[in-house]
Amino acid sequence: MQQFAATCEAVAATTKKTEKVRLVAEYFRSRPMKEAAQAAIFLSGRAFPAWEERTLQVGGTLLWRAVSEISRKGDVAVTAAYRRHGDLGAAAHDVLLEVAPKASSLSVLELAGVFEELARRGTTAHKETILETLLRRATPLEAKYIVKIIGGDLRIGLRESLVEEGIAKAFEEPVVKVQRTNMLLGDISETLRLAAEHRLDEARMRLFHPIGFMLASPAEDAREAFEYFNQAIVEDKYDGIRAQVHCGGKSEPRVRIFSRTLDEISESFPELPPALMAFPDPVILDGEILAWRSEVEDGAITGRALPFSELQKRLGRKKVSEELARQIPTAYVAFDVLYADGELVLERPLQERKKLLDQIFASVPAGGFNTEHLVAAENTQGALVFEPAIVSRSGPPRVIQAPILTANSAQHLDEIFEEARNRGNEGLMVKDVNSPYTPGRRGKSWLKLKRELATLDVVVTAVEWGHGKRANVLSDYTFAIRNGDQLLNVGKAYSGLTDVEIAEMTQWFLQNTIEDQGFRRVVEPRIVLEVAFNNMMRSDRHASGFALRFPRILRIRADKTVEDIDTLDTVKQIYEKEHAPKKTA
Ligand code: AMP
Repeated sequence: MQQFAATCEAVAATTKKTEKVRLVAEYFRSRPMKEAAQAAIFLSGRAFPAWEERTLQVGGTLLWRAVSEISRKGDVAVTAAYRRHGDLGAAAHDVLLEVAPKASSLSVLELAGVFEELARRGTTAHKETILETLLRRATPLEAKYIVKIIGGDLRIGLRESLVEEGIAKAFEEPVVKVQRTNMLLGDISETLRLAAEHRLDEARMRLFHPIGFMLASPAEDAREAFEYFNQAIVEDKYDGIRAQVHCGGKSEPRVRIFSRTLDEISESFPELPPALMAFPDPVILDGEILAWRSEVEDGAITGRALPFSELQKRLGRKKVSEELARQIPTAYVAFDVLYADGELVLERPLQERKKLLDQIFASVPAGGFNTEHLVAAENTQGALVFEPAIVSRSGPPRVIQAPILTANSAQHLDEIFEEARNRGNEGLMVKDVNSPYTPGRRGKSWLKLKRELATLDVVVTAVEWGHGKRANVLSDYTFAIRNGDQLLNVGKAYSGLTDVEIAEMTQWFLQNTIEDQGFRRVVEPRIVLEVAFNNMMRSDRHASGFALRFPRILRIRADKTVEDIDTLDTVKQIYEKEHAPKKTA
């Protein structure tokens, strides 16, 4: 563990990417393979490989308490150290200096063992004992990085992509091969093992292990979206939650559904797996889960998306009652395919993947096996209309192929935009027909066009008690954008959430407070919000140097993590665009 911590220190001390990669590579080469493989996970800031569902279930407060307890210095000293560094790991290092052992007795593999133990369910008291026993064995420097890994962020300027580069350098393999293997397996430790043995070519996609999601960039307006590509596919932007479905087909009748954060969410949508079993061959599809209502009238079936707020009532629950599933039915709208015919198809152009998607939907036998419903759809003004011929039995559609639209001018795109809004969807997605599927990357091959042009995804960094009837809830949120590893505050908002949401958030913030300042609490930066605003100004009130005017919280983005939030660069771009001298006609 000592070498691991020393490597982290060295990586943190340099801003040069090549140097970081060199240090990581050297470390990997110097350790036994098993240890290096495990360390690769930790260096990516995770306790477990990306594909795993397990989490440590250790919140900031628990960690804080354990550090405070074994330091024997009390909260005041920990708070002071925290204020100096803004990081609990670094604070732990300072307050444990006098009490911690000077020599190391912990290994990286032992730490992995303790994480396994922590991830098993247990009482808070039990977890606290495990944590304290662990931290008592660590040197101050080791404790610093153990706390950081548990917190989910090393903050040493090392992303998983640099760890991939480190593996490539250490074992003299091409970076692209390492990236591809990691993408296929979702497991950086397994990737390291294969690289060390020069067996990267053997990596096979594993069905039921999630692949990273391709992300979209915002388009300012229809003109920009239209002019970006020579040829584009336009789709509605559905307002639900992103989901990757892995269907085993007839040979392995099993379905797993993964969220954008690569967590399994199959159990939250019990009505979807049986319908998705209808695909006869193994496939991985990308799409959106929506709250959805269908109507059958004279043999014709129409359906439309319900507002996101409806779907929200079903989120955050692991088990869904039959009653709730009936009240708020869901459907899966598929818009892309990642795996079919025993092959990964990410590198094929979108146009071809769309054709494949047609074939996949067409391959479902009429009436489907074990299926209630499966449908291709056609758009109209207010709804989707389904062809009765391919709807099996009488149930509502649950699996829908996203219809493709085409636009022939920016003005036309604006019209289609309005139609999409009338169908209850959020806006449009405009996609380059020639683009491959690039997992985990936010490129310009997919552009999103929404009504609120100025929205940002931000993370809550501090909260305050409200006023008047909100005096007993934490309702005023300070939020930040990202600049590399730094979080920079950009505004404060206190409207937009429902009373129920505010009450739930209050509980969460109380449990995840890093520093209680009385009226204000610094909280763990994990709650991502989507905020809209009317204007942006330069301001030295916030660390970002910008302030949003009239920010409103549109919604909590439980599907996003702090890594997904918008960056200072985006903020600057929005500002510059807004404040550029306007051309006069
Ligand atoms: P945003 O969440 O605002 O960053 O917008 C990107 C998200 O839009 C994706 O992650 C999807 O969840 C969602 N989305 C809705 N409809 C589509 C679509 N047709 N194609 C791609 N993404 C879509």
